[in-house]
Amino acid sequence: MTSASISSIGQPKAATRPAPDAALVTAVAEKSALVMARLNTIIDHHPNVVLANSLGAEDMVLMDMICKDNLPIGIFTLDTGRLNEETYALLAKAQQQYGRDIEIMTPDYKQLEPWVREHGINGFYDSVENRKACCQIRKLEPLARTLKGKDAWITGLRAAQSVTRQNMDWEDFDTLNNLPKFNPLIEWSEKEIWAYIDLNNVPYNALHDHFYPSIGCAPCTRAITPGEDVRAGRWWWENPETKECGLHKAK
Ligand code: SF4
Repeated sequence: MTSASISSIGQPKAATRPAPDAALVTAVAEKSALVMARLNTIIDHHPNVVLANSLGAEDMVLMDMICKDNLPIGIFTLDTGRLNEETYALLAKAQQQYGRDIEIMTPDYKQLEPWVREHGINGFYDSVENRKACCQIRKLEPLARTLKGKDAWITGLRAAQSVTRQNMDWEDFDTLNNLPKFNPLIEWSEKEIWAYIDLNNVPYNALHDHFYPSIGCAPCTRAITPGEDVRAGRWWWENPETKECGLHKAK
């Protein structure tokens, strides 16, 4: 499948989003049951498992399912220090709404300070190498620290999100951190994610209502225009093939 064939109009505002029809409600109910079965299977085999909640729409769906059933799955997020205000507002709202702690991981200042001193506060725009180095310090290193001693981790990845995710399975393996990794929402469509959110009153990032279907750090994310790929707003100055921060390398 090409990048063009997975293009999307992005997320329309809640006020203009049509209510899910009966077929969509049924599809979401069936897929939700499958996700719950998957989550319980994961817990049975990997008791010390965590959800990486990037505060995107998919991760909020998983957080909702985990909290409603009070599943013993830890939840963490990576605060890169460069997130949008709307993302921090969602973090606070999610903790309050679910009454559940989200462990907030931050970059190691011993790595970050010298890098910023050498490359500048926005040095990630200068080259792909710089951008990847910034992601390494602000995301990958804190992720590796978080996953140390864990049995497995869970993500909200979907195959339709990106050309780089087309061949991913729900059961995966993270070779960087040497851990089983699970993507229980892998077959979900964007429509199904938003139907679940609307049907279950799941909190979500206000930027989604302003054509930000995929949200990362503020300086590396822009809104998309109708017809653009859902990840066109992430690192928009790079080729689609390089547009990953390294958190989710394919097998
Ligand atoms: Fe740095 Fe941008 Fe990567 Fe965030 S997304 S860690 S600001 S390069």
